[in-house]
Amino acid sequence: MYAVVDGEIRERFPNTWSTYHATHIEQIPFFHAYPGSRSLLVGTAGCNFSCSYCMNAYVAKEKPENLDLFELTPEKLVKTAKLSGCHNIVFGVNEVTVSLPSAINLAKEAKLHNLPMGCLSNGYMTEEAAGLLADHMSFLNISLKSLSPEFYQKYAGVTDIKPVLRNIEKFAVKNHLEITTPIVQSVNDHEIEEIAKYIRDIDPNIPWHVFRLLPEYKMKDYAYPDIEKISEALQKAGEILPYIYFSNFVGSPWVSTNCPECGKTVINRISLGTCGAKLLNNLLLENRCPGCGEKIAVLEDYEKGIPGR
Ligand code: SF4
Repeated sequence: MYAVVDGEIRERFPNTWSTYHATHIEQIPFFHAYPGSRSLLVGTAGCNFSCSYCMNAYVAKEKPENLDLFELTPEKLVKTAKLSGCHNIVFGVNEVTVSLPSAINLAKEAKLHNLPMGCLSNGYMTEEAAGLLADHMSFLNISLKSLSPEFYQKYAGVTDIKPVLRNIEKFAVKNHLEITTPIVQSVNDHEIEEIAKYIRDIDPNIPWHVFRLLPEYKMKDYAYPDIEKISEALQKAGEILPYIYFSNFVGSPWVSTNCPECGKTVINRISLGTCGAKLLNNLLLENRCPGCGEKIAVLEDYEKGIPGR
């Protein structure tokens, strides 16, 4: 996605997108950022990882030359977001750092129009790139695939996990951060408690999305993750970390937000069987539980009104 031109690293396909469509923020997924809001989801092509289970391989692992891409300026995308009634823009589908200048130019334009921008990322980037994302993205969902360097080597094709952990810790200080862990049956399912402790030690208010990864791409022969066993492990992890979610199967009871103090459900969602969920209603009163008044860690935009009420 980059080339050296006249001694400078430049994007080969600036402002060129594989995806732009309106969706709900819960489906991306973000559960604690602007609940119920409409997002313009954008993405390009390519990734700096080679995950054997990539569920977006059709864009992440395909050569951009082979895809139907759309050239759209930041101005046009922001206009599309506004015409589609979107409250924010999210770079997802593939890895944001393979199109960093385009993503940042879009975030700058979005800011001029009062639209916050967020992104999904695997977190594997230099400190400088992480600093740029931290400056320009209001909310991020970083994929923490495992705490094991061997997992990253064997299943993601990278030799070092340290940049991912360093960047997660940096984003947690400066940005609204959510973390996603795709669970691969019999590969990283034993790490649930350890990852929950790692996140709690950074900030217990970070929402953690555990994603039931269906066998995909080069791992089609693997078993489907066992919902009951993972749920059992998550019950225990719930004593460590208050905001744990589990999706990608129909009827998941793990997609609503409960007050960590009194247990009342404060944001109701329904699982449609895919990534994330759909908002049913948001009972929070100025980010506080209507039952006991406990503050719930949710990024809100009260000036624009809260959808789902
Ligand atoms: S980081 Fe995500 S998009 Fe990139 S190869 Fe891995 S699963 Fe695919």
